[in-house]
Amino acid sequence: MIRAIAFAALVLQTTAVSAETYAIQAGRLIVDASQPARGPSTVIVENGRIARIEPGTTAPAGATVVDMRSKTVMPGMTDVHVHLTMNSGEPWYQGYTQKYSNPYEATLGLTHALEMARAGFTTVRDLGGDTSAVIAVRDAVAEGRFPGPRIKVSGEALSIIGGHGDAATGLPPQMVEAVNEAHLSPAVCTGVEECQKAVRELAAAGVDVIKFHATGGVLDPGAMGLEQHFTNEEMKAIVDMAHAMHLKAAAHAHGAGGILAATNAGVDSIEHGTFLDEAGARAMKAHGTYFSATLLAFSGVERLLGSGKLSPASEAKTRQTLSQWGKGLNLAYRTGVKIALGTDSAVAPHTEANREVGLMVSKGGMTPRDALIAATKGGPDLMGLSGETGTLDTGKSADLIAVEGDPLIDSAAVTHVAYVMVQGRPIPMQ
Ligand SMILES: [Zn+2]
Repeated sequence: MIRAIAFAALVLQTTAVSAETYAIQAGRLIVDASQPARGPSTVIVENGRIARIEPGTTAPAGATVVDMRSKTVMPGMTDVHVHLTMNSGEPWYQGYTQKYSNPYEATLGLTHALEMARAGFTTVRDLGGDTSAVIAVRDAVAEGRFPGPRIKVSGEALSIIGGHGDAATGLPPQMVEAVNEAHLSPAVCTGVEECQKAVRELAAAGVDVIKFHATGGVLDPGAMGLEQHFTNEEMKAIVDMAHAMHLKAAAHAHGAGGILAATNAGVDSIEHGTFLDEAGARAMKAHGTYFSATLLAFSGVERLLGSGKLSPASEAKTRQTLSQWGKGLNLAYRTGVKIALGTDSAVAPHTEANREVGLMVSKGGMTPRDALIAATKGGPDLMGLSGETGTLDTGKSADLIAVEGDPLIDSAAVTHVAYVMVQGRPIPMQ
């Protein structure tokens, strides 16, 4: 009894210290994208959490009123595939050959984190960047030093020698030597043991998820194709070790064989999934593997075509993938595979990330409602965060946005974001 009282006192004290109550008045309220919208409602936020939802327009005494009566208030979106520390409009590997130091990349990451929040994303997952830089961005934002979404990170993405994540890919021989001597490709591994070691090193560095390049990539200058890169045994070793470290595993995969191999290895999500075939879709459905289509990235690579920034091999791979834009997602959707929203920003600018929802409809054939479910609930479910975010249920983190129009009918609504709150903290919109 005494203990119970002492505990209650402690809770009250904590509440008193950090209490900031918000009354977010919505014209239309989406609590859960899989349920019908409600009419005028007020979301009461206390201590960063959703305390309750009241019908109509209310304003409890002492609450900061946020007037969104002309807007739809909905759960914040989750993007499971971003690169915060990279700029758009340039192939990723240019970071190695241009002026960017890892500390400078962290400053880029803070800028892009804020852009993602302003685009309506209250959670993002960084799937590939310098490990120390992305961890610094994640932690600085989590501590409230900079405004931004909740961030989870993979750090460096594992790659085969000469593959999509090898910094030396496509460089002249002298530079390959220099890159290898400077250990600029810490995530390159060969064989079961090296790949297990690489996963352990990333886990020890404090990442939240392990990403590996199951197949070749479009924007690296190499000519090693878009099919399977790691062996089945290497993929299994990576996924099993990630799971043993209580981490999820994400596979970059374009070619059908690579998608199937990564799925059979037990990976939690297929990223891109460009050339998904029937066998792969059936396997993904059977394994409960998530599909993250990154359709926005296709528009990003389309802009790079003919710019002179791509190697001839990369130009060819770009044309190959553009012919498939949305087809993998459509097959996954029709097969009943679980879908999460992923954009691969910075391939296209982070500021455009909310366009992915409309592309999932126009290119992937999803209904606006299913695209919105994938955008709000898919990512949290994939990442094990459903108890915390993705719907506006009482007790969950106050991760919400206000948009113009009705996103359950018209996906363009989420490209007009008027207000964003992450964990009870309003994001400065300009
Ligand atoms: Zn990516």
